[in-house]
Amino acid sequence: MKFLYSDTQDYVDPGYDFLNDRNSPGRERYWSDVYAHELMEAVPYDGLLVAMSAVRQASGVASTKVRYSTREEQRMLRDGARKFLRYDGPRFKDAMLMGDCGAFAYVDHPVPAYAPDEVVEFYTEGGFTHGVSPDHIIFDCDLNNPPEQAVDDAVRQRYAITLANAEAFLGLVRREGMPFEPIGPVQGWSPKSMAEAAYRLERMGYQYLAIGGLVPLKVAAIKAVLSAIRERILPDTKIHLLGFAKADNIHEFTGFGITSFDSTSPLIRAFKDEKANYYSEGPDGKLAYYTAIRIPQAIENTRLMQGIKRGMFSAEDLHRRERKALGELRAFDQGASTVAATLDAVMDYHQFLVRGDGTGAEQQDKGLDKTAALVQRTLEHQPWKDCGCDVCRKIGVEVIIFRSSNRNKRRGFHNLGVYHRHLQRTLGEAA
Ligand SMILES: [Zn+2]
Repeated sequence: MKFLYSDTQDYVDPGYDFLNDRNSPGRERYWSDVYAHELMEAVPYDGLLVAMSAVRQASGVASTKVRYSTREEQRMLRDGARKFLRYDGPRFKDAMLMGDCGAFAYVDHPVPAYAPDEVVEFYTEGGFTHGVSPDHIIFDCDLNNPPEQAVDDAVRQRYAITLANAEAFLGLVRREGMPFEPIGPVQGWSPKSMAEAAYRLERMGYQYLAIGGLVPLKVAAIKAVLSAIRERILPDTKIHLLGFAKADNIHEFTGFGITSFDSTSPLIRAFKDEKANYYSEGPDGKLAYYTAIRIPQAIENTRLMQGIKRGMFSAEDLHRRERKALGELRAFDQGASTVAATLDAVMDYHQFLVRGDGTGAEQQDKGLDKTAALVQRTLEHQPWKDCGCDVCRKIGVEVIIFRSSNRNKRRGFHNLGVYHRHLQRTLGEAA
């Protein structure tokens, strides 16, 4: 089973100065920076997925979340996505480079933001190895399998558009001489309707299907959908799971003949999750998670800056506590401080992130106690010392500090690496 990471322009400054929190001299965004597959010797994924909506602004759709500048888009299409992502050369020659439309970006729009011919041209110019036909997300999945007449017009329309697009898309790809492998997207309002869509896509000629709309579904519902689809299609037809949020439960889906899936969650959790920020593989072979230690830069933290402006605390005092927390943690890493002293210093600074948030003192104390317990666990286990990945070996304790994107993204890269290794190991055992 192949794990694809969906690119969200995640790169770091390889020469970042962690002691002074400064970029390397003369650093230019993107040009000086490195992607995870450049920074890490063991590439932490089997392929990349690029959403068209992240690259190109769709005409008439205000809500697409474009991340690329126009110049970056032009360069990607001129040089090819592989070269743009620096995912070329012999190391990556067999790696997948999948394109999809990023249907979430235009989910509120009556029709998909891009027409099949525009999408085929985009994938072809970008040099993608695989491309998903433009689909339209259907969110509600009713496990009771209501008949077509019982669902909303809008839902039926999305179903019909996705299938009609797929037919036009496949015709265009064939006419171009199959410059990439076309993937048929499955959308539906129930397991049965999704199975029917999968069957129709297969009849059109698709040998690779992508299942969308799984994001809000629980594990049991996803299993119901996959069972229904598998019963209806040929055993050789390949399945990709789009934007799979349950990546950590992937071992529960090994029986469904999944060829590939994409996810961003190991990276995102490094800085978005409340407590599971650092991945580790426990002695039992299961994934274990640690909280990162939050020592934000006072000058970059809105709450702290507001507190300073309102005179709740002084900038100098805060800065002194911030330095003390960092210093104590680094000393601890070197064996020159204790868990208790480090925890004290960290929480002494951390309390200012909570104070003045409008909740009562009792609530705040409870929250702080919880955080202290999680931080203590991280300190006691020192998981960064057990990891041999390129990030942890190079920056050591800095990887566990929740502070600046250069640390937070590197922790995300580490998570991708742990996750990918775990996947290969457990699925190797399952096979
Ligand atoms: Zn690591």
